[in-house]
Amino acid sequence: MRGSRTTGAIAVALCTMMTGASVASAADGTGGLAATPAPAPATPASPAVTTQSAPATVIKVTAAVSLTRSQTKSVQRRVHVRADGRIGTGTRSAIRRYQSKKKLMRTGRPNLQTLRAMKLKFAETIAGRMARKAAAPSPDGTFPIQGPWHYGGAATTFRARGGAHQGVDLFAACGTPLVAASPGQVRTRKYEARAGNYVVITGTPGGEDEVYMHLKSRSPLKVGDAVQAGTPVGTVGDTGDADGCHLHFELWTAPGWYAGGHTHDPTATLDAWAAAAGNPAGAATS
Ligand SMILES: [Zn+2]
Repeated sequence: MRGSRTTGAIAVALCTMMTGASVASAADGTGGLAATPAPAPATPASPAVTTQSAPATVIKVTAAVSLTRSQTKSVQRRVHVRADGRIGTGTRSAIRRYQSKKKLMRTGRPNLQTLRAMKLKFAETIAGRMARKAAAPSPDGTFPIQGPWHYGGAATTFRARGGAHQGVDLFAACGTPLVAASPGQVRTRKYEARAGNYVVITGTPGGEDEVYMHLKSRSPLKVGDAVQAGTPVGTVGDTGDADGCHLHFELWTAPGWYAGGHTHDPTATLDAWAAAAGNPAGAATS
C-alpha cells in the first residue's frame, strides 16, 4: 500500500487541495512547506520525479494551514509520508484531476507548471535549476532514425497533398529504431486510424512539440514520461494510413500539438540533425 501514498511534499499539497482547503496558505505565510527535497531530478521536465532507485526520504511538513477541524484531521493523517521517488496510481490520478481542474496538461506528474499552479515555493527552486541548465550549452537534438533513411517524393513533403500533409515522411526499413530527437516529456501516446501508433513529445528546449507517427507497435513510452535526446521511442512502421514503412514527423510551435501551436516545415531541422549524426538522407523516392 505504500506505493499509493509516497510522493512526499507534492502529494501532501495535493491531498490538502483535494479536501477543498486553501493550499496557498501552505506556500506563503509561516513556514511554508519545509520539505527535504527529493534527490536531484532526472530531467528538468519532471522535476519532482526521481529515479526509481532513489533512497527513501522523509518529508516533514510544518505549514500552518487554516482549515476546519475535520479538514485538519484529514491533513494530519497525510503529512508524515515517506517519499521513495515513485508515484502511485492513486497520486497520479489525483494529480490528473487537479491538472484537469486547473486546465493544465494532464500528465499525472508534478511538473513545473503544476507546482506553480499549486503555488509551491518548491517550484521556484526547480525553475531556477532549469534556467541554469537551459543556460548551459546543450546539444540541439539527435536525428530520430537510427539507420539508413530517405525522403519520399513530392507527395510526402511538408504541406503536400493540397496542404493537408502536416509533416514530412522519412522512409526507413520497418523496425528501424526511433529515438527522441530532443529532451522533453511525453504528451500523447495513442493509436489513431490515420496516424497509427504515435507519440507526441512536448517541453523540448526549443519549446516545440515533436510528433512521431506510424510506429510499428505501441511506443514503450507512457504519457508523462521524461525523455532525453536519444531515448527509444519505438520503431519505424506503417501502422495507420501509411504507404510503406516511414516516420511521419511533425514540429509544432508552442504551446504545441492541437493546443494552440501550429506545424511548420521540419525539413531544415531534420537535415541539421541528420548531418550532425553523420546519417544524411539517401536518395529520395517518388
Ligand atoms: Zn506523412
